[in-house]
Amino acid sequence: MSSPSSTDDDLRDVFKLLYADDDWSFDKDEEDEQEFHPPLNSIIPDIELDVEDNSIQSDDLSSSYRNKYSKKRFIEALDSLLPITSLHPNKSRRIYLKQKSISSSSSFTLSYQPLPSLPSSSDYLPYSPLALLSRLKTYQTYSYTSDSEYLTPIKASLAGWINSSRNTLKCGSCGSNINLNDIDNIKDDRVKKEVCKRLSKSFELGHKAHCAWKIKKSPDELYNNLRKSLHPLISSSIGPLAVDLHKALITSSISFISPLTHEQETTLLKKLQQHSSLDLSKESVLLAFFGWYPYYPNKLSDHIQIQDSSENTNNKQNKQTDIIHCRICSRRIGVWTFIEKKPQKMNLLKEHLNWCPLNQTSENQKWWINSNLINEYSPIDFTKSINWIKISDHLEKKPWRR
Ligand SMILES: [Zn+2]
Ligand SMILES: [Zn+2]
Repeated sequence: MSSPSSTDDDLRDVFKLLYADDDWSFDKDEEDEQEFHPPLNSIIPDIELDVEDNSIQSDDLSSSYRNKYSKKRFIEALDSLLPITSLHPNKSRRIYLKQKSISSSSSFTLSYQPLPSLPSSSDYLPYSPLALLSRLKTYQTYSYTSDSEYLTPIKASLAGWINSSRNTLKCGSCGSNINLNDIDNIKDDRVKKEVCKRLSKSFELGHKAHCAWKIKKSPDELYNNLRKSLHPLISSSIGPLAVDLHKALITSSISFISPLTHEQETTLLKKLQQHSSLDLSKESVLLAFFGWYPYYPNKLSDHIQIQDSSENTNNKQNKQTDIIHCRICSRRIGVWTFIEKKPQKMNLLKEHLNWCPLNQTSENQKWWINSNLINEYSPIDFTKSINWIKISDHLEKKPWRR
């Protein structure tokens, strides 16, 4: 078994076991070789395939071989390399399984971690949240003016389109263009709505026949996945950000329009306070919860730096600012516009760009609503916890396993 030729034999046998149909199978080759290929043998009688002959010479060897290696065992071995959830015993087998859920591939970027570098907006990466962000970032208020619910930057980006020039969309894969310039000239709102509705079909149909986006667009849930990965609502990410805002903001007493109730705000403040020795301001806690970061003009501001307590406090002056920004949509705001003496109030959600995943207010898209940070701890009802542990059906059931 150690010589190179026998290794080749093994590989060839594995290949046959996995891919050969019945008419290639070993049984027939071994037992009925003469009957199956009489014309071939009579035409070229002098040629002998020594390697094959050696492998099937002995009946004993072949029977032990059959017992040891079977198609079923090889496929089981290969299946064991795949995640257990991806096995579909009733469906036809495929080596590369269709990606059904994208949630399993997500990872968090916490507030003190820099954003990963974004792929090019023209790359075909339908399952990547960062590639979706890269496409969304091309939509700026001055270059994309449509406010139609049918032609949102989110819908266009999920279908692969980037905003290449004023009200023009382009596909980075097939080079197709969609021009939306004339919509603004339509005066009648009903007509405009209908035109937008019909134009939205070109998000899917506007790609060329060979374009990958035409075959597979990004799944809708990728948009929520983007928010969850870049702004996870966990205290280990929001807490340090609130502390950093508390230290960095020169202005305090900012007026907000907040979607949280008074009780939720109190709970949030209490929960984040537990992780800090500082007396955190309500402003810093709310800004952190809704994804706002301190912005420094001369410094990379896509993440905060957790300060060492031994750090020289004289340095503090350099780390203060009155500008905040969102690291997802890059919206930037000077907070002095919203100090309490002035009539303007800062809307914590609506100040994000319209495509930003943190600017979602429709009733079923309140992304913060189930966060543990704003909900008081509720004792677990153990009568409902019986079915918490569920063993996968793919696992072998042992008598001791319930
Ligand atoms: Zn295309
Ligand atoms: Zn934003």
